[in-house]
Amino acid sequence: MIKAVRGTRDLLPPDTDLWNRVEAQVRDVFARYNYHEIRTPIFEDTQLFSRSVGEETDIVSKEMFTWEVAGDPERVAGILDAESLSLTLRPENTAGVVRAYIQHGLDRAGKLQKLYYIGPQFRRERPQKGRYRQFYQIGAEIIGPPSAGSESPLRDAEVLEMLATLLDEVGLRDWQLQLNSVGCAEDRARYNQALREALQPVVHLMCTDCQRRAQTNPLRVLDCKVPEDQPIVERLPKISQYLDEPCCVHFQLVRAMLDAVGIAYTINERMVRGLDYYTRTTFEFTHGGLGAQSAVLGGGRYDGLSESLEGPKAPGIGFAIGEDRLILALQSQGEKPAEKVQAYIAPLGAGMNVHVLKLARELRRAGISADIGDETFRLKKSFESAEKAGARFIVIVGENEVAAEQFAVKNLASGEQVQVPRAELAAHLRK
Ligand code: AMP
Repeated sequence: MIKAVRGTRDLLPPDTDLWNRVEAQVRDVFARYNYHEIRTPIFEDTQLFSRSVGEETDIVSKEMFTWEVAGDPERVAGILDAESLSLTLRPENTAGVVRAYIQHGLDRAGKLQKLYYIGPQFRRERPQKGRYRQFYQIGAEIIGPPSAGSESPLRDAEVLEMLATLLDEVGLRDWQLQLNSVGCAEDRARYNQALREALQPVVHLMCTDCQRRAQTNPLRVLDCKVPEDQPIVERLPKISQYLDEPCCVHFQLVRAMLDAVGIAYTINERMVRGLDYYTRTTFEFTHGGLGAQSAVLGGGRYDGLSESLEGPKAPGIGFAIGEDRLILALQSQGEKPAEKVQAYIAPLGAGMNVHVLKLARELRRAGISADIGDETFRLKKSFESAEKAGARFIVIVGENEVAAEQFAVKNLASGEQVQVPRAELAAHLRK
């Protein structure tokens, strides 16, 4: 038997009802904050990720699904240089959004672009609960020229405030916001130097990944999850000591605005996030119901990303919600996914099918969700089927009912049964 590949999974009803409910609520929140959807391809030129997410990150160095394809004949003929092209299933979506922003000259609009996406991402991680090789992200970006205010801490606060609202509205309780600032490129160069010096006498005691990171990108040592390395990591210098004045002020303003709107957070100086493009504000929202993979979402500011992809100066800030984890967290709170169908229409006796079809058509067009049962002579069997279908009401359609234009309607929860004229049926079922 052929099964879904390790790390991938089928999403089935009734879970998909919960997924769709969450997505509908999230789209509604995005609309109220004036975001618009962007859809980028699921695979991109590999360089897009190595140049933005960073060669030394776990994502690029070991987690990408990458393959080579022969270049098109014109390329191979030497008209263009590449003979083959390396392609990668997107491991995240910010790089693709910024590529599209540059490619379509969206900066020329001279305003902030507020873009959101919902879709699958791919990483070759070790599969476990809350960690899959195909997973789904709901993300958004605010990006634009500095003249449109893209660098303002107001945008950081607006994004964080929206996330608090979004998580509240989808019904997640007890989430926590962790906040940090990773400064600008110059701050990080100085911090990396300090880390290098602090690591030098102890790095031989650490895991092989850290030994490599200490050479190439010491900041990534802070991502280390190996338990034995933690005492060393805890004692390393803190990023806050290396932020320059503008970065400090930016961070202070973001925090002051969060305080003003009453959003609680904790500062986590180790949270440097697993991607290199971040500058200044970084954040994660966590939830206790998720176990080891506790981050529901992560994000931050990326003021230099567009330029590192040869685009215009276009600072931005964004986030990605792990949709799989958001759903798991909601389910850990006992969230019930299934929406019951409103009416189960049961044909009683011979020749009722066409009447049932007509009645179902009327109700569905009137906005009532309705399902149709199999023709049967036994009322008991119809009730059983209606229960199985998860219906709120059963509507019995027999010869007498059709002739009288009046139907027996039973509320399956309360057991109450009444006769309802055809003209009033939709209104009755809507209650
Ligand atoms: P990142 O792009 O790594 O900052 O991830 C943002 C969010 O996506 C995380 O906080 C997780 O909720 C989710 N996420 C990342 N990787 C995975 C994965 N392999 N499986 C499920 N969710 C993931």
